[in-house]
Amino acid sequence: MSPEEKALMKSKIQADLEALRSDIAGLEESTQPIAPDVSLGRLTRMDAIQNKSVNEAALSESLVKLEKLKSALTKLDETNFGVCESCGEAIAPARLEYMPETTTCVNCA
Ligand SMILES: [Zn+2]
Repeated sequence: MSPEEKALMKSKIQADLEALRSDIAGLEESTQPIAPDVSLGRLTRMDAIQNKSVNEAALSESLVKLEKLKSALTKLDETNFGVCESCGEAIAPARLEYMPETTTCVNCA
């Protein structure tokens, strides 16, 4: 992977991180405990509880992704970034662009 490609990848990861952080902030807000007497308009309390668990699942998924992106960002400066840790072949740029946190090529995934 050339330095130019790495620079591009880095700005893409940083943009993804930015977007993910704002998603996480929104999800954290929507996973606050639901007060028993809260006025929910048309939503029933059961709906609110169900939405909350959906959001909690999304939140934990986002947190995992956040960690992966952060580690991809760290690994980007290492010489083996973009190299499959299983077979040692270069990972296809399209795959890296789609999921920069990946450490295996499409054949080994
Ligand atoms: Zn591989």
